[in-house]
Amino acid sequence: MSEAILVTGGAGYIGSHTVRQLARLGRKVVVLDSLVYGHRDAIVDPSVDFVEGEVGDRALLQALFEKHRFGAVIHFAAFTYVGESVTDPLKYYRNNTAEPLTLLEVMRDSGCKAFVFSSTCATYGVPDAIPITESNRQQPINPYGRSKLMMEWILKDCDTAWGLKSVCLRYFNASGSSADGLIGEDHNPETHLIPRVLMALTGEITHLEVFGTDYETPDGTCIRDYIHVEDLADAHGRAVDHLLSGGASLQCNLGTGVGVSVKEIIDAAQEVTGLEVPVKYGPRREGDPPRLVADPSLAAGVLGWTAAHKDVRDMLRPAWAWMTGPRKGRYANTPGSAP
Ligand code: UDP
Repeated sequence: MSEAILVTGGAGYIGSHTVRQLARLGRKVVVLDSLVYGHRDAIVDPSVDFVEGEVGDRALLQALFEKHRFGAVIHFAAFTYVGESVTDPLKYYRNNTAEPLTLLEVMRDSGCKAFVFSSTCATYGVPDAIPITESNRQQPINPYGRSKLMMEWILKDCDTAWGLKSVCLRYFNASGSSADGLIGEDHNPETHLIPRVLMALTGEITHLEVFGTDYETPDGTCIRDYIHVEDLADAHGRAVDHLLSGGASLQCNLGTGVGVSVKEIIDAAQEVTGLEVPVKYGPRREGDPPRLVADPSLAAGVLGWTAAHKDVRDMLRPAWAWMTGPRKGRYANTPGSAP
């Protein structure tokens, strides 16, 4: 029987899609999630063991590592609000950088040496060149990005010291939902562009505010690389296989390589839904780089991974099915709870 995989933060957005794919492939998965931002009902496969708790809880982790023979850990659990990281940096350094040290210590003590880490394109800051390769300087411009970059450094040091092999996956803009619309993106508060465009269509918010129209881009709005959450999930499975088959530590981008502007997202959402997005044009949001587009060729070469979805309409369709289906039901009796 293959060894189990511990997935921290497995009840979150990218985590829950990854857990579902791993379970479908017949992998034994144990999810550890604090449920601070995660959702228990995002774990839909009965074969998955769910444990509520923190990655800094040493006694809990020791008990889990004694009970299961974990071949690998996929570590999603983190706070991800860039703005909040600026106003409350210690919360981010505590949760995203300090608490995982306990997890790494327990892994070291139990001999588990494979770690897949949710890193981010925010570790690059404002890139020197587009598309962004992994050799671009990493100069994050906010505590969130720094909290993740420090983890990348810690993982390299653990490789040197005790042979921990890790894959740091630097996500670009995660988007979309499972193909059947059963699970999807559910942050509270929701700050991301695609869900907010769709929330403006359902009336959950009055309008979408476009943050800046004076960037040096063809239509003046920011350009991002939107990557389907199911493609991200696929990459995690490949990263685990890479490590379990003796692969070396790796840091790689996960994106499509396609840049899409805010205005193009709005147009695509209108095309997919047949509805008009109520839009207001506002000033730039502080800290937004004008363009972030991945060069995903390293992940293709080492993990054999490429994004199956490159057209944002393929991300918007399931996101709309989720937004108007299960997610709508989730908030039906709690007005105001999902701004
Ligand atoms: N954006 C926007 N209005 C919103 C949310 C986002 O114009 O209500 C823009 C934002 O300025 C950025 C892009 O959409 O250029 C993607 O933002 P998001 O927060 O989804 O992801 P980020 O790239 O900041 O991680």
